[in-house]
Amino acid sequence: MPTNRRFHLATEDEIRAGRTTDVYFQHARQAIQARHADKVVVGEVRAKRLPNDWEWGVLVGIEEAARLLEGLDIRVWALPEGSLFRAGEPVLTIAGLYTLFGPYETPLLGLLCQATGIATKTARCRLAAGDRTLLSFGARRMHPAVAPMIERACYIGGCDGVSTLLAAELMGIPPTGTMPHALVLILGDTVEAAWAFHESVAPGVRRIALIDTFQDEKFETLRVAEAMKEKLDGVRFDTPSSRRGSLRELMEEVRWELDLRGYQHVKLYASGGLDENSIAELNPVCDGYGVGTSLANARTVDFAFDIVEIEGVPMAKRGKESGGKWITRCAACGAREVIYWKREPGRCACGGSREVLNRPLLEGGRIVAELPSATQIRSFVLQQLAAIRA
Ligand SMILES: [Zn+2]
Repeated sequence: MPTNRRFHLATEDEIRAGRTTDVYFQHARQAIQARHADKVVVGEVRAKRLPNDWEWGVLVGIEEAARLLEGLDIRVWALPEGSLFRAGEPVLTIAGLYTLFGPYETPLLGLLCQATGIATKTARCRLAAGDRTLLSFGARRMHPAVAPMIERACYIGGCDGVSTLLAAELMGIPPTGTMPHALVLILGDTVEAAWAFHESVAPGVRRIALIDTFQDEKFETLRVAEAMKEKLDGVRFDTPSSRRGSLRELMEEVRWELDLRGYQHVKLYASGGLDENSIAELNPVCDGYGVGTSLANARTVDFAFDIVEIEGVPMAKRGKESGGKWITRCAACGAREVIYWKREPGRCACGGSREVLNRPLLEGGRIVAELPSATQIRSFVLQQLAAIRA
């Protein structure tokens, strides 16, 4: 069929119209309507397990889920965006006539699964990196149409900055980056590239030279440091794996040589194939990380949507617990428990009172929850991660 679109992507209107859903939901709606059998149901979104059986995930995608379902005459409850959650916990609950929202299952899960997977992986890298710089460099690995979503999830999950212009603009933060190999190759020399960068880029941008293009990292770093002195903020190692040996030993050697010559202020950054394990390995010598593929291509959190009540009666398929549920947390000891939603939260075994974490998101088609900025959500995530670390 001829089409005027240039890229293989769905528009916002097509997504909101349910055009990216699986056809079997359309079949179900047709069959239910043919029998005049529509029912008020309650359904919930849960992940039975998390990637690699991790203990917790970082929930992202709630704002987009609200935008997807906005206008439908249904009620929705969810954990706030950025909440840490456990396997088995209901993160989003919908109540309403099935045919109104059933066909949105595919895009709803897609919005939650991918962003949550990315934010969860990023949070693990943030924990590994401690207070060191962590930047999102993975936009190039994925379709550009979703770069803002990917980088928002990276930023919320704990990255200090994101590299693409549009993602940064949409979140109201400055984009962050160093210099590409292309600049060094075209100017023909690492020091020349560093000077050209320094002379042409805005004053607030950190002067971080790429030092693995032509020659040995140690001698290139020393050349740049001796040429630029205090103007140089740092150097970045993007050393290809074929030349790497031990990146940590290489960086330790460079650190030693810099310190010996009085360049303690020059920070060391690494990029290329990093994840939470290599970050932990490099921490003793590395000041910051640019992480790409492992964040952008993070495993999705495989949320499922299941009906758990029909016309007010608990009912679920084999293998799923029936009845609407809330996640409760003890205000005193932090213990979490999932309870049937018509039961009072009551008290924890420790005597503390339990609070329900699920909050109203949509009522009668209207978004009733606050939708905080990415920066606010990121602070909320970092607070929760600090509690894990403590
Ligand atoms: Zn307790």
